[in-house]
Amino acid sequence: MSFVATILGSSGVFATVDRASSGYLVDVDGHPLWMDAGAGTWRNLLGHLDYPELEGVILTHRHPDHTSDIWQAVHAFQWGQKEQLAPIPLWTTREAMAALSAFSTDLGNVFDLRPVGPGDVVSFAGAEISFFEMKHIPGTVGVRIEYAGKTLAYSADAGPSGNLPELAANADVFICEATYLKDEAGDWDGHLNAAQAARVAQDAGAKRLVLTHLHPKKDHGRSLNEAQAVAPGLRVELAYDGLRMEVDA
Ligand SMILES: [Zn+2]
Ligand SMILES: [Zn+2]
Repeated sequence: MSFVATILGSSGVFATVDRASSGYLVDVDGHPLWMDAGAGTWRNLLGHLDYPELEGVILTHRHPDHTSDIWQAVHAFQWGQKEQLAPIPLWTTREAMAALSAFSTDLGNVFDLRPVGPGDVVSFAGAEISFFEMKHIPGTVGVRIEYAGKTLAYSADAGPSGNLPELAANADVFICEATYLKDEAGDWDGHLNAAQAARVAQDAGAKRLVLTHLHPKKDHGRSLNEAQAVAPGLRVELAYDGLRMEVDA
């Protein structure tokens, strides 16, 4: 039994030299699932597996920093070998599916499109995946994956008023967005700062908090300090591309 998550991209809003945009590889006992497909995550994914091995994809919402590399997969599945690969499931919200399919109907030719929304539960390789409403743009879901008694939770992009407590409840690993710094004027309420992420994690009883969706123009050391200040007993760290986390450790 193994349950491992690897960060493919940890940058918020746009990719940088050091960080791809949002993306994660979840391995459930040898079954790979790609969760969010931000710019640069396709290349990083290929460092871990050959794409025909992929068994499923989740896109949390339509924003390009979470979806743009899905088109790399579409081309690879279509044109990377003599015959198009058999479709694998792609779970996303109806809103994201409509937006992406409007760009190219190839999405539905390559993937087995499965719409999901808050409250839905699907199975993947013996794991149970549930979806939660996040306060971001309409059609954004947080993702909770439970396998063999262990839990991985991912906030997607989320403001403070979404269903974060249920998403993160007793998670062994909680990957949470922390786009902002504390007390900065003009921030949108569709994202969190690191202190808010830490408060959610602590109140929910999460065991390990990994701060991600780090804004390219912000001080990430300050983010970490702000998180540690509100939750001194919590294990908290900054995501980086390539970070491998054993959820079942
Ligand atoms: Zn984003
Ligand atoms: Zn977004």
